[in-house]
Amino acid sequence: MAISFHNRVAVITGAGNGLGRAYALELARRGAKLVVNDLGGDLQGTGTSNAAAAVVQEICDAGGEAMACDASVTDTDAMHAMAQDAVERWGRIDVLINSAGILRDRTFAKMPAEDFDCVLETHLMGSANATRAVWPHMREQNYGRILFTSSTSGLFGNFGQANYGAAKMGLIGLARTLQLEGAKYRIRINALAPLAATRMTEDILPEDSFAKFAPEKVVPAALYLVSDDAPNGAIIGAGAGAFHSAWIAMNQPVVLDDDAMSVEGFAEKWDSIAQREPLCFPESGPEQSALILKALKQHSE
Ligand code: NAD
Repeated sequence: MAISFHNRVAVITGAGNGLGRAYALELARRGAKLVVNDLGGDLQGTGTSNAAAAVVQEICDAGGEAMACDASVTDTDAMHAMAQDAVERWGRIDVLINSAGILRDRTFAKMPAEDFDCVLETHLMGSANATRAVWPHMREQNYGRILFTSSTSGLFGNFGQANYGAAKMGLIGLARTLQLEGAKYRIRINALAPLAATRMTEDILPEDSFAKFAPEKVVPAALYLVSDDAPNGAIIGAGAGAFHSAWIAMNQPVVLDDDAMSVEGFAEKWDSIAQREPLCFPESGPEQSALILKALKQHSE
């Protein structure tokens, strides 16, 4: 059955370019009313342009409804004003996709503190700001779908991206707690680690693979994750038409006896402690604690 966003109101940050723009165009095509947010800066986050207004024009030309917001996601007051404008015009906010982002790549040894802070401020704090702005509206209307944009650099690490990786894994931490706090208000939270040919990747993807990695090939995952039937708490990788899940997992706890409670005792058990199987997938911190308590109980029996 066709997945519709008819009369849904969606806010997308960083929707003036790349992936955010592709999500906005498809959401509008499926009936959503859009707030297109984009500061319009360069890849490092400096400068401004009319990127948001240009996408709004594209949507309106195609018969859709949209409004532009050219504020930075780092501006808390502006994010609240953006949410307020959407609610005043359309009465609700159903979907938030946090896609705004910048890069300031360097090895950690050479990275100025300012570049570390600025990347965290944009990705992590920016996503928290936009989320904080829509959260009360979603709670009040008892419905919401929020997507955080993580990255393989956060989930698995990437040379030269300590700042970006820290921010992107921070977003997973944010998502995993909000998925718990939002559940009773029917707010579902998911995270996406995309791979697409945009200005962010033009230096690393070979030019002849640009069509293969078109942002449109990430759109099915992003839109499903903010649809009515979205899961809650998924971490999905998407690029070039391939999709996968990622998890935070743990193995079975190994319990040291009192007489082995030493650095040497730990070292002796290292192979079991580092063993990758069997794995379990706690849905919350308390679930992880429960698994530890269970292992302690089993050990003492
Ligand atoms: P992009 O540069 O094409 O788009 C990002 C947009 O965010 C730009 O239009 C930019 O102006 C906007 N933006 C930057 N700072 C902003 C701010 N402070 N306030 C508002 N808007 C701001 O890049 P993209 O590839 O479309 O990236 C989208 C998201 O996906 C980013 O969060 C990025 O980190 C993530 N991501 C992309 C890839 C990829 O392969 N392209 C891989 C992993 C993660």
